[in-house]
Amino acid sequence: MTASRVLVLNSGSSSVKYQLLDMADRSRLAVGLVERIGEETSRLVHEPLTGPGAAGGRREQLGPIADHGAALRAVAAELAADGLGLDSPELAAVGHRVVHGGTKFTRPTVIDDTVLAEIRSLIPLAPLHNPANVTGIEVARELRADLPQVAVFDTAFHATIPEYAARYAIDAATADKYAIRRYGFHGTSHAYVSRATAGLLGKAPEEVNVIVLHLGNGASASAVRGGVCVETSMGLTPLEGLVMGTRSGDLDPAVVFHLARVGGLSVDEIDSLLNKKSGLLGMCGDNDMREVLRRAGEGDEAAALAFAAYVHRLKKYIGAYSAVLGRVDAVAFTAGVGENAHQVREAAVDGLAELGLALDLEANAARSPEPRLVSAEYARVAVAVVPTDEELEIATQAYALVTQ
Ligand code: ADP
Repeated sequence: MTASRVLVLNSGSSSVKYQLLDMADRSRLAVGLVERIGEETSRLVHEPLTGPGAAGGRREQLGPIADHGAALRAVAAELAADGLGLDSPELAAVGHRVVHGGTKFTRPTVIDDTVLAEIRSLIPLAPLHNPANVTGIEVARELRADLPQVAVFDTAFHATIPEYAARYAIDAATADKYAIRRYGFHGTSHAYVSRATAGLLGKAPEEVNVIVLHLGNGASASAVRGGVCVETSMGLTPLEGLVMGTRSGDLDPAVVFHLARVGGLSVDEIDSLLNKKSGLLGMCGDNDMREVLRRAGEGDEAAALAFAAYVHRLKKYIGAYSAVLGRVDAVAFTAGVGENAHQVREAAVDGLAELGLALDLEANAARSPEPRLVSAEYARVAVAVVPTDEELEIATQAYALVTQ
């Protein structure tokens, strides 16, 4: 029997999301998550999608789960109860989402002690994310020491961005000393969606230039030329770029000095303000686009302004990336907002006919879980809605690495 299963782990600061996939047919065998780890009200939701357990549907466990170790052991027990345990010889690898790979990791990497130490050394660049990723890896290694553990980095797809786009125009020695440059994030999603968009156009990734707009709670844009990423909107951290659910995206860096000098805010307070209390939330009090749309529809001015600012920023990036690419074949919308909010797509593309963009409004308003084109027939540039699948991309990359 060839081992063809991959367990994908996405460990956040207080949560673990997981999927077990079979790469023989790219099917999902089980999915789930553990949330509120470390609290009294932890919750594990497990859903077997195949085998004897599937008929029973979702299972939920409530009650304290102390740490990531306990969380992963609970997940392993759930999988084992469905005959999908980690001890199965069919399991080929565990694929870990790792947020920051710095300049060191530009491709998926089998994790050994040295790699783990290097991922740890990147914690200063991603203090909110890499520690949880490291813990996830440590626990998974304990559970099944002989199994290849593969790190798939959020930054890796952006490693091809040319130096002149990756550099900030600051003192070069200072930039080098502190590893300050634009790394970009959401890379697995940008990689998957740009490739899937080429597929939707019936072309190979090498043949097309795509602007990908990943609009989830976090949001980022990328310009992908012939399958190679040449520009992205997130930078040293995920704060730069588009207006997001709770992040400001681009602003004059002097806002930070002003808040410190005039407002008396500490660095941590400003960090929290810009990352957690800005964006849609900061502008109107709601970070969920559904709420923003509902309120704006009822005439709420703050919500309408937040929506307009969100869309205006998107337009600026579509224009900028059209210039970066020179020729654009498709603009692809993905993630929670991009896949579901037709109003955002409509407003972002509105008025961009000179750039070759025009929607089929009826196709754009129709809901579907499938990748699809929503552009007008006459439009020079295709507009696509492509559901992202970061877990499948992580599993694909991890599996390719361990079976090559
Ligand atoms: P994350 O970045 O957390 O992975 P997702 O890609 O799941 O996020 O996107 C979450 C966001 O998607 C929510 O905050 C919400 O604003 C938005 N969203 C989800 N469904 C809809 C919908 N039907 N209409 C508009 N926005 C939606």
